[in-house]
Amino acid sequence: MKTAVFPGSFDPFTLGHESIVRKALPLFDRIIVAIGANSMKSGTFDLEKRTQWIKETFADCPSVDVVQFQGLTVDFCQKNEAQFILRGLRNPNDYQYESSIAQMNQAMNSEVTSVFLICDPEYAAISSTIVREVFKNGGNVSQFLPKAIQLDA
Ligand code: ADP
Repeated sequence: MKTAVFPGSFDPFTLGHESIVRKALPLFDRIIVAIGANSMKSGTFDLEKRTQWIKETFADCPSVDVVQFQGLTVDFCQKNEAQFILRGLRNPNDYQYESSIAQMNQAMNSEVTSVFLICDPEYAAISSTIVREVFKNGGNVSQFLPKAIQLDA
């Protein structure tokens, strides 16, 4: 069974994230969206709420699971018998950052391979960081989020 872990903070999960998972559906038997729970930083949006939103977004996709995790992504992959880490690339900055992470993960566990999908141009400008800033300042962010995610400005 080909299993991929899609790790991230997803604070919040955006249309860009959704698009990467949907593009990956035909490539893997199972995709685990793994929400990193940082013990030092709780995030802007509640972890349970983030989990619920992502579950609703993929209610139509039986091969997608949504879980929370702590610790190293490669350890989580090993525990869940996942051979792949899925990540999205928006621009050269993402590439630079992601290639370092992938190489470090490769050094820590050579059985887990990172797979990158290039995002569609209409999602390239969407980042959780900017969505959070717009939201905190009272802006309407619904156009950047999956339908299941409704934030009250
Ligand atoms: P992290 O907290 O690890 O930085 P994020 O939650 O921001 O993770 O994102 C998880 C993954 O989704 C990363 O691979 C990131 O590059 C990718 N990603 C973020 N925004 C988009 C987008 N708009 N389109 C495609 N991929 C994206």
